[in-house]
Amino acid sequence: MSDRYAVIGNPIGHSKSPLIHAAFARQTGQDIVYEALLAPLDGFVQAVDALRANGGKGANVTVPFKQEAFNLAVHLSERAKLAQAVNTLIFRADGIHGDNTDGAGLLRDIEVNLAYPLAGKRILLLGAGGAARGVIMPLLAAHPASLTIANRTTSRAHDLALQFGHWGEVSACDYSALDDLPFDVIINATSSSLQNDLPPVPDSIFSGTGLVYDMMYGKEPTLFLCHAAQNGAPCVADGLGMLVEQAAESFYLWRGVRPDTAPVIAQLRSL
Ligand code: NDP
Repeated sequence: MSDRYAVIGNPIGHSKSPLIHAAFARQTGQDIVYEALLAPLDGFVQAVDALRANGGKGANVTVPFKQEAFNLAVHLSERAKLAQAVNTLIFRADGIHGDNTDGAGLLRDIEVNLAYPLAGKRILLLGAGGAARGVIMPLLAAHPASLTIANRTTSRAHDLALQFGHWGEVSACDYSALDDLPFDVIINATSSSLQNDLPPVPDSIFSGTGLVYDMMYGKEPTLFLCHAAQNGAPCVADGLGMLVEQAAESFYLWRGVRPDTAPVIAQLRSL
């Protein structure tokens, strides 16, 4: 019988994870079944239990359950502990292991796929939610010159800067304080693009950049990326590559095989 995996979320109908993992499995010859599971908002633990009882070997976890997955895992990786969120569960004989592959996915997309090394760069991270928290450590591990966090609720950005400050050059500020500050890389980790809205950054910050990245992705470029390009950003990228790369890292944790992501990214772009 094939090993079972699933992505668990609510909503889940839009998830591209089943398609991505099916492509990885075909490419690497791994015998797995991967499905999308809609869990009731108060039924995440039951959904995990049912998957395990039915021969499940692991799961991806998406909105809004990453925190619950963090609480459920008995063994946590260092990066999951720092992110305080889990997007990958591995069911082992000694209990449930929790990991977080979002940061590794972002780093691989920027540094490998987009060929943009972050060492020595001045990074601006917009947002202080789960996604932002999950990428701070991997970003710092790339040895940027500085990492500035800006968020609508400024206190949340300051909390993150305080928590991660001893790992590197991290500071926090208000959106209104960004005018005239120079950045090489801007990463949008807010969910504003989901609402077709923009974080209130000054237009002046885009023209001097080398890369503007939005974690959100869609059929069309996001409003944020369009706005950045209109205001002089020479290079913009959405989060589709990050999505595939975080999935590849999960696949590697489960199967011990690293899939080739480039054809899968190309396949998703062509849909
Ligand atoms: P959270 O709900 O945890 O955090 C949302 C963040 O966005 C907060 O910082 C919030 O600010 C800010 N925000 C929301 N609306 C606005 C707005 N209109 N203007 C300015 N700031 C706003 O979400 P996540 O961190 O989990 O996800 C963030 C984004 O990252 C989503 O778009 C998600 O799809 C994407 N993502 C992509 C991944 C990928 O693989 N490509 C992986 C994970 C996430 P405040 O604190 O003030 O409320």
